[in-house]
Amino acid sequence: MTYQHVIAFIEHKHGTIRRSSLEAATQARTLADQLGGKAHAVVAGAGAQQAVEVLKRYPLDQIHVLDEDRFLDGAVDAVEAVAKAVGPALVLVGNTMIGRDVGSRFAARVDCGINADVVDFKTDGGQVSCVMPKLGGLVITTCTLTGSDYGVAAIRPNVFAAKETSGAGEVVQLPSSGKASAVTVEDEVEEAAAELGVEEASVVVSGGRGMGGPEPFTTILKDLADAFGGAVGASRAAVDAGWVSHGHQVGQTGKTISPQLYIAVGISGAIQHKVGMRTSETIIAINKDGNVPIGEFADLLVVGDAFAIVPELTKLVRDAKAVHA
Ligand SMILES: Cc1cc2nc3c(=O)[nH]c(=O)nc-3n(C[C@H](O)[C@H](O)[C@H](O)COP(=O)(O)OP(=O)(O)OC[C@H]3O[C@@H](n4cnc5c(N)ncnc54)[C@H](O)[C@@H]3O)c2cc1C
Repeated sequence: MTYQHVIAFIEHKHGTIRRSSLEAATQARTLADQLGGKAHAVVAGAGAQQAVEVLKRYPLDQIHVLDEDRFLDGAVDAVEAVAKAVGPALVLVGNTMIGRDVGSRFAARVDCGINADVVDFKTDGGQVSCVMPKLGGLVITTCTLTGSDYGVAAIRPNVFAAKETSGAGEVVQLPSSGKASAVTVEDEVEEAAAELGVEEASVVVSGGRGMGGPEPFTTILKDLADAFGGAVGASRAAVDAGWVSHGHQVGQTGKTISPQLYIAVGISGAIQHKVGMRTSETIIAINKDGNVPIGEFADLLVVGDAFAIVPELTKLVRDAKAVHA
């Protein structure tokens, strides 16, 4: 199937847009230029108008807004309405819980396919193929969706660039449905917040069994992560021990992340951990064992006691920031 346009679904929390959605908005422009079509964004829910102000700084032709607080149903309705109005289109969502939820519900409504965890695109005429790692990254597949005017690609966070431009997209208000929300959000669980952290942070500081207990996750590791403006991650050993919640887990049965900097503290680097972080731009391991497996694929292995090294490193980062402030 050939597409003409690209639609980025914008995920936000009370108007604060997730970085993966800004990446989707930027990638929508790149693909739309290759297809000779337009780049659209769809934003819905409470705070949508605030999100629009940010989206105006991104290279979009049109920003469609549904200012109606119907959790996810409103978003799916809005994506469907825009897709049907613009014609053959590829819909980009973040490969996040909400992105995959909205993308798959849209796909079910219009009977199209969805590619998840997309890390690259190939265009040929109007045809778009999605490149995705499978089997924990051991196999790379290239998949072209056929048989529908629409397709959905859930893009892996931190892989595509998010770039602001000076051009402002035209804002189009979508008519309100007048429907009541079928869902009431009563509480936002810690897992969701943790997911926001490790998947979107450009620096992740992860702790493993070598941390010896829960405390370092809220003290020395958190201090280092905070100094970078990053997030705390964990190996499964630390999660299974109950030291930190599963939302922080990196690896085969946790999150797959690609931050600019990954610091593994007291983590041996088992294959199941490696598949979740090996695409990080720079990997630093801190371990008391100079022959630890993670040393084979880390850019830098610092050998020594984490409890001595991490606070010193935090101090260095804070001092460096103070100098550059
Ligand atoms: C099906 C399956 C799925 C899995 N999924 C995941 C997953 O998603 N994520 C994941 O991480 N694992 C996963 N695992 C588990 C994985 O195989 C490893 O058991 C786990 O990653 C080990 O965690 P670790 O590196 O923290 O612990 P260990 O392998 O025990 O390593 C601890 C490290 O800490 C170092 N150390 C100890 N004290 C200090 C100190 N004071 N200072 C510095 N270093 C110190 C040690 O030298 C050692 O290298 C999975 C396993 C299976 C079978």
